[in-house]
Amino acid sequence: MQVELIELSEKRIRFLLKGVTPAFANAIRRASLSEVPTLAVDEINIYDNTSVLFDEQMALRLGLIPIQAEDLDLYVLRDECECGGAGCPACQMTMMLSAEGPCTVHSGDIRFEDPGVKVAYENIPIVILGEGEKLVVEGMITLDKGSTHAKWQGGTRCGYKNLSEITIGECDGCGRCVEVCPRDVLEMDGGRVKVTDPMSCNLCKLCVKECNAEAIEVVPIADTFVMVIVTDGSISARDLVAGAAKDIGDRAGLLGQKLGELA
Ligand code: SF4
Ligand code: SF4
Ligand SMILES: [Zn+2]
Repeated sequence: MQVELIELSEKRIRFLLKGVTPAFANAIRRASLSEVPTLAVDEINIYDNTSVLFDEQMALRLGLIPIQAEDLDLYVLRDECECGGAGCPACQMTMMLSAEGPCTVHSGDIRFEDPGVKVAYENIPIVILGEGEKLVVEGMITLDKGSTHAKWQGGTRCGYKNLSEITIGECDGCGRCVEVCPRDVLEMDGGRVKVTDPMSCNLCKLCVKECNAEAIEVVPIADTFVMVIVTDGSISARDLVAGAAKDIGDRAGLLGQKLGELA
C-alpha cells in the first residue's frame, strides 16, 4: 500500500491510497465516521427554559455542537474508565449555559469546567430569547464514538472514489470534451486536448460520449482511490484519519490473536 498526501488543513484531508481493495478504502471511511472518539454533550439538566424551543429540541441542539479538547488523549471512554463508569474528571466534564433575553444564545456562551475543553465554533446559534425569556442548563460532556450516536461523529464528509486513468488517442482538437467536462479536468493545448487534473475527474464519461472521434478513454484504476475526509471541527483531520487507521490496526491485531489461539 502507498499513501500520497494531496492536501491537508485543520479540518480536511485529501490523499491517494494505492494498492488497496475497495473494502480497505471503505474501512478507512467507516472508521473515520464511527470509530474515532470525540467529545459531545451527553446529558443535560434544564433548570429554566422559557424560550420558544422545547427542552427536547434544546437537548438535540446542544448535543450536536462540536466540542474540542486541547488534548483528547487525556480523556477516556466512560465504560473503560477506572471509575467503572460512575463519572470522574477523566471520563466526564461539566458545562453550563445561562442566558436571559433579549439576546441570541450562541455556542460560544457555553462555559466548561475543564479549561482544556472548548466549542469548535463560537458562532453556532442555539436559540433567540425574547424579552425576559431565560435559559439555564447544566450538562455533562463525555467521550464516545459515532457508532454510539452521531453526536460523537467527528467525520462529516468521508468518501472515496477510484482515481481515473484518462487517455487521449487520435484527437482532432474539436474541444467538445473540454466544454462538457463538469470538473475542468481537460483543456486545449496546441490543438489537442490535455488532461490537467485526473484527481478531480468524477468518472461521469460525458467527455467520452461527446467525442465523435472516439479519441478519449476514461477508466477507473481498480486499486487506487482518492480519499477525502472532512471533520466537524471537534478533531483535526490528521488525528481523525490516524485514529481510524489505528482502529483498523487494532481490530486486525485482535483477529490475528484470536486466530493464533485457535491454531
Ligand atoms: S472531443 Fe475528442 S476529438 Fe474533440 S478535443 Fe476531445 S478528445 Fe479531441
Ligand atoms: S469523465 Fe467526466 S469529469 Fe472525468 S474528464 Fe470526462 S467529463 Fe471530465
Ligand atoms: Zn471515570
